[in-house]
Amino acid sequence: MAAIQLQVYETLLAAFGPQGWWPAETPEEVIIGALLTQNTAWDNVEKALGNLRRRRLVDFEKLSGLRDELLEELIRPSGYFRQKSRRLKNLAIKITSAGGLRGLVGMPTLRLRDWLLEINGIGPETADSILLYAFARPVFVIDAYTLRICGRHGWLPEPTGYNEAQAWFSDKLPADSDLFNEYHALLVRTGKEFCRPRRPACCSCPLAGFTPIFAPDTI
Ligand code: SF4
Repeated sequence: MAAIQLQVYETLLAAFGPQGWWPAETPEEVIIGALLTQNTAWDNVEKALGNLRRRRLVDFEKLSGLRDELLEELIRPSGYFRQKSRRLKNLAIKITSAGGLRGLVGMPTLRLRDWLLEINGIGPETADSILLYAFARPVFVIDAYTLRICGRHGWLPEPTGYNEAQAWFSDKLPADSDLFNEYHALLVRTGKEFCRPRRPACCSCPLAGFTPIFAPDTI
């Protein structure tokens, strides 16, 4: 019998079909979006990205020299715009100094991950989203939806650290960036539509057959 990690994936894919992630047009947009999406909904990021696109500023070299006030104004819809503007500009400067995306694309995955994690404002989830969706590296992204789903089914003890949760998936799945890309997107959809923080919709959820276990305060 296939590992539960693969069974969950196949169940979600059969229920929802391919999700076509990441919702961005270029690796540059993925990277900018991964930073801007922290603590906000994607719709707000899309507005900020639209502002940058219209001014042809989805370009790390241009962003690294942009006036702070203008960058703040352009990304304002994504919230926390002062902090995010500082972080985005810093990231753009680092990428530009590394020779742009061409300078990073040949870096081994673990080294690239460490390089990203050293940048202010980039934690494991953002770094792994960039590795997976901008650089097509087989790195499994863990987020709050994934932790909630896993916790409610008793697949992972709560609380579980990022690395432990990532290993739970990675150790039982082929290291395939297409698979990881799709799997993360499917988990996000499940979390948004069914596995909500309160009153999860288990009866209609594709994962109902996997026997959820609830802690009383999550119902
Ligand atoms: S069956 Fe319930 S607990 Fe499991 S993922 Fe769906 S909504 Fe969440």
